[in-house]
Amino acid sequence: MMMRETSASLCSQNTPNVAASYLSKRQGVRLSWEAEHSNYAELFYSHLILATGSDGPFPGKFNQIVDMETAIQTYEDTVQEKSPRIVIVGGGAAGVEMAAEIKTEYPAKEVTLIHSKIALADVELLPSVRQMVKEILLKKEVRLLLSDRVSNLHMLTLNRFQENMAVKTEKGTEVAADMVILCTGIKINSSAYSSAFGDKLASNGALKVNQYLQVEGYDNIYAIGDCADVKEPKMAYHAGLHANIVVTNIINSLTQKPLKTYQPGSLTFLLSMGRNDGVGQINGCYVGRLLVTIAKSRDLFVSKSWKTMGQTMPC
Ligand SMILES: Cc1cc2nc3c(=O)[nH]c(=O)nc-3n(C[C@H](O)[C@H](O)[C@H](O)COP(=O)(O)OP(=O)(O)OC[C@H]3O[C@@H](n4cnc5c(N)ncnc54)[C@H](O)[C@@H]3O)c2cc1C
Repeated sequence: MMMRETSASLCSQNTPNVAASYLSKRQGVRLSWEAEHSNYAELFYSHLILATGSDGPFPGKFNQIVDMETAIQTYEDTVQEKSPRIVIVGGGAAGVEMAAEIKTEYPAKEVTLIHSKIALADVELLPSVRQMVKEILLKKEVRLLLSDRVSNLHMLTLNRFQENMAVKTEKGTEVAADMVILCTGIKINSSAYSSAFGDKLASNGALKVNQYLQVEGYDNIYAIGDCADVKEPKMAYHAGLHANIVVTNIINSLTQKPLKTYQPGSLTFLLSMGRNDGVGQINGCYVGRLLVTIAKSRDLFVSKSWKTMGQTMPC
């Protein structure tokens, strides 16, 4: 789709003068690029898709720029840690999956999940799904501290073995832990475009889009995935739906056909609760444990992802 009609200038975050800079009167826009690149690179485009996603704490996200081997090793090191007592902070989708996963693979470990609200997992899930999440965790003997918050997070070593830490909560509970894992949610990664699109940002930093997923006020700049301000949970599944719509719309705009609209549908959301359990909903309807286990928990869509990328999965 690179046509020399309008241009985006991608430049290092360390480079001075990265502020918004409109390069052509139409829709050229200057964006900041990953900091490892020290030089400007100017790319020309006819259509631009912004998909900068979100950042969050390790291990949910890997937020340093390193080579693949180092990233894999960092995860291996975390898994190898011999911590008998683990505290997970945050009981959203990532936190409940993490707690269930650890307790399934290492039943002898003491796992405590501390969550600021009473109900677990995503607020948009059916109450019956959230209730089942709780029942599965209790069945796996995860200790739940609900409607409470960790008060001494800044004093704790995160994601690494550190014998006998004292995790304190606002309600006065103290939990002994040898590893603390943060699952406290994600933050939209807006650094590439926040200067250029300051007036198009929702309060969380996502880009305001219209029903065609075009950034408000532009007809050739699209936002998809986590960085698009669409009222639905941030999910890879939704990012894929957005991508299909935007590809169709770029083709349609070039062939003078009407654009397709994106409407968030009834929620599809599967939670794997260890490799032998799970629960969720498809198109707003409750899906039981057996189905989710078969559909997701056994391989976490790994084989599907390889297939989607047109690659053969390594043995
Ligand atoms: C622990 C966890 C579990 C999850 N489980 C599920 C699940 O089971 N099912 C599901 O559907 N979703 C799940 N999600 C959500 C899912 O991972 C995200 O919704 C999805 O990855 C969003 O895709 P994206 O392409 O928008 O953004 P991302 O996956 O965040 O990708 C954005 C990419 O853009 C790069 N980037 C950012 N800025 C720049 C720049 N300036 N220059 C160049 N590159 C840049 C980033 O480095 C990154 O590689 C989970 C998320 C977490 C954290």
